[in-house]
Amino acid sequence: MTKEILRVENLNKYYGDRHVLHDINFTLREGEVLTLLGPSGSGKSTLIRCLNGLEEYNDGAIYFKNQKVTPSAKNWQKLRQKIGMVFQSYDLFPNLTVMENILLAPTKVQKRPEEEVKKEAEKLLARVGLTGYVDSYPRELSGGQKQRIAIVRALAMHPEVMLFDEVTASLDPEKVRGVLQIMTNLAKEEHKTMIIVTHEMNFARQIADQVLFLENGQILENTPGKDFFAQPQTARARAFLASMD
Ligand code: ADP
Ligand code: MG
Repeated sequence: MTKEILRVENLNKYYGDRHVLHDINFTLREGEVLTLLGPSGSGKSTLIRCLNGLEEYNDGAIYFKNQKVTPSAKNWQKLRQKIGMVFQSYDLFPNLTVMENILLAPTKVQKRPEEEVKKEAEKLLARVGLTGYVDSYPRELSGGQKQRIAIVRALAMHPEVMLFDEVTASLDPEKVRGVLQIMTNLAKEEHKTMIIVTHEMNFARQIADQVLFLENGQILENTPGKDFFAQPQTARARAFLASMD
């Protein structure tokens, strides 16, 4: 059995009186790709944000490599270095160049030597087809380019898990494919452990080892990817897949 990386137990989350995550349970193992599917408002972003401490939860527990994550700020800061995240809005620092954006956290937070990180950043940029953009500013880049930089920036921290929340949702259709290809390579060639929220069903079908299907903050299905797409168990998931065609 491959090693467990993340385990979520009975996680509950409220916004005020509103119960947005109900008894969430799942396990993520090393090298596995979990896709989080479900209609808008089902709680996907909230869940993924709870996993790296961007959002507090009310009840339940998260274990990282079998160690319970206590809710202290210091603990989360450490964990966040191991769990990289890329959002729909790229949120690069606008006043920093591409290289400065990538170097910031590895040199300031992880205190790694700048030259070492720089060399690595150049390799990563080459891999996503952006050699030569080191001195550009985010405003000079297209959405697809910014998103690829955001992925490189997260990877430069050497995370053990990558979280992707609808990273192609605001891209022009012709830019979507390049970004999905990078994520596919991370999964298939580097066996990165990832949690992916996406509305790209063909992509999800190709990449998902495990699917969590959420509705109204509840997990309706937790199934191996191939089973989910071949034969969803619930009528709700069948209707969801049909609506995505
Ligand atoms: P999804 O990512 O699946 O679209 P979200 O996690 O964004 O769903 O939202 C889940 C529910 O929580 C929705 O009902 C949404 O309106 C609500 N919600 C999300 N963020 C907040 C917030 N900051 N304050 C209050 N309610 C929120
Ligand atoms: Mg969302």
